[in-house]
This record gives sequence, C-alpha cells and structure tokens, in this order.
Amino acid sequence: MLRLDAGSDLLEELTAYVRHQDIRAASLTFLGAVRRASLRYYDQATLRYRDFTLNEHLEVTGGVGNVSLLDGEPFIHAHVTLADAAGRAFGGHVNTGTEVFVCEVSIHELNGEPPDRVFDATCGLPLWGGIS
Ligand code: ZN
Repeated sequence: MLRLDAGSDLLEELTAYVRHQDIRAASLTFLGAVRRASLRYYDQATLRYRDFTLNEHLEVTGGVGNVSLLDGEPFIHAHVTLADAAGRAFGGHVNTGTEVFVCEVSIHELNGEPPDRVFDATCGLPLWGGIS
C-alpha cells in the first residue's frame, strides 16, 4: 500500500517506488484525485501515441496497471479513468506529467518469472515476450 503526495508525478513516483523496492512483476490499482492529467491514446492505424492533457482537477475513479520489465528495469504500464465535477469521464494511458492531488495505490507483487517486454512490429509496441 502506498500513498502519493500532492504535487508528485503519478507515473514517475510509481516507477521510482517499484524500482526502489525491486518489484519486477505486479498488478496495481489506484484511486484519488489529480490536479492535471497527461494521457496518451494509441492510434492503431498509425501505430503512434497521441498525447493530450487535461488541465483541471479530476477524480481518479479507476486506475489499473501492471509492472513488468523493459530493458531489464521494472516498468509501469497504467491506464486511468478520471471524472470532472459534472461526472464526465475521460481516460487513457497514463503519461508523465500527471500531477497528483492525492493517490492511494495498492501494489500486488506477483511470483514467478517477470514478463520481459520486447518490441512487436505488428502493434508497434513493446509487448510481453513469451506470453500469448
Ligand atoms: Zn497503455
């Protein structure tokens, strides 16, 4: 269990924590609120991310992610759903630049060999190798 403090960067803090704790395989969930969000949408036609920011205070109504290895280092992959004051929802792949207001994180470390990401030319993304 982990609490992220106001002003911290969601993705950077999670990454620093799992690397410091040497957590190499895990699932994680989180909730709370952010001051601003920096998210990505993966365009399946162009195989490129489209980045966008939401410059407002938002509730984290659902955050999910996993930890695996990329280039031998623990790597966070997280998606989030956020809601504004009217309850309208936004979502996407969490990018650096998402500023926490407060965030509660549950990290569930997994046993066994951690998945190792390798580049997949079909998707244009580093996917888990040896798992299909
Ligand atoms: Zn993603």
